[in-house]
Amino acid sequence: TREIHLASRPTGWPTEDNFAVVTTELPALSAGQVLVRNVFMSVDPYMRPRMNDVKSYVPPFQVGEPLDGGAVGEVVESQVDGLTPGDLVVHGLGWREHAVLDNPRKLDPVPGVSVSHYLGVLGTTGLTAYVGLLDIAGFRPGDAVFVSGAAGAVGSVAGQIARLRGASRVVGSAGSPEKVALLTERLGFDAAFDYHEGHLYRQLSAAAPDGIDVYFDNVGGDHLEAAIGALHDYGRVALCGSISAYNAAEAPPGPRNLGLAVGKRLTLRGFIVTDHGDRFRDMAREVGGWLASGELVAEETVVEGGLDAAVTAFLGMLRGENTGKMIVHFD
Ligand code: NDP
Repeated sequence: TREIHLASRPTGWPTEDNFAVVTTELPALSAGQVLVRNVFMSVDPYMRPRMNDVKSYVPPFQVGEPLDGGAVGEVVESQVDGLTPGDLVVHGLGWREHAVLDNPRKLDPVPGVSVSHYLGVLGTTGLTAYVGLLDIAGFRPGDAVFVSGAAGAVGSVAGQIARLRGASRVVGSAGSPEKVALLTERLGFDAAFDYHEGHLYRQLSAAAPDGIDVYFDNVGGDHLEAAIGALHDYGRVALCGSISAYNAAEAPPGPRNLGLAVGKRLTLRGFIVTDHGDRFRDMAREVGGWLASGELVAEETVVEGGLDAAVTAFLGMLRGENTGKMIVHFD
């Protein structure tokens, strides 16, 4: 079987040369284990900072070792009661064609729901959006909400949850005119803008002329600065990610107007989704309900080609080639 290793640590933007496809032998199965063939795998922004040799909330990837990440696998061989070949499991050993799993979690997909959504809107992506907006930013009906990275996986769900939970206005930023059109025409955002097209604070003020109560931050840097400028007193920010800095060779400066947070009595709160597994059921019930009723659109970009397409898909996601969740499909 084959898997993808980190061949070298990227400096700045990663390239195909930082990765290597390696052929390996599968270990024999022990009691309690299953062998799966991966069907879908996730490529995520957080994988980029994990390629740096720095201490963080997850240990860094190691040079010469396989990468890992969210995946859905189909059981090929099983030493676990209740799991038989053909069953699906959600697990953390993506970036490889086959995986031997110790504590497999069986997936019982709801009929009519694409299996890939369990890596997106009905998985970690959905939970991140749900917890970030409702628990971390303390969203309340009537809030005006700004979401950056709004056409991406987390952003597209966060903005839709805000709309469905009764936001007074939902504004999004994204990286192309097509994405802006997706936000306003398909996902129900009240206004959206392309952050390449001008001064961020001015664009945000035009899209949210009465200001904002909540900012869902996927981007950091200049987006966070613009949001601090637009937030009302007692405004709340969920610090979800800072993708604008992930490929920077040197850390960019922080928001220059952070001092405004004092007078505005702002709350800026970071979070990591894996601490919030206790909210998974609530998310699955509410988001699953909106998905079933058609009120929430599960946007995703599925790249065909399995392992051979995985690195290209990952690099493409960092450059913004995805709308919604970026997923790799194995044939
Ligand atoms: P996305 O689907 O949003 O993909 C990344 C997107 O980022 C790209 O499509 C691109 O869209 C945008 N982007 C890339 N570079 C820049 C830039 N310089 N400025 C603005 N936008 C940029 O990924 P996810 O939804 O999976 O993740 C979104 C954020 O949420 C990330 O910061 C991620 O790290 C974070 N996250 C945090 C979690 C947590 O537990 N705190 C859990 C999961 C995700 P565009 O064309 O618009 O530029």
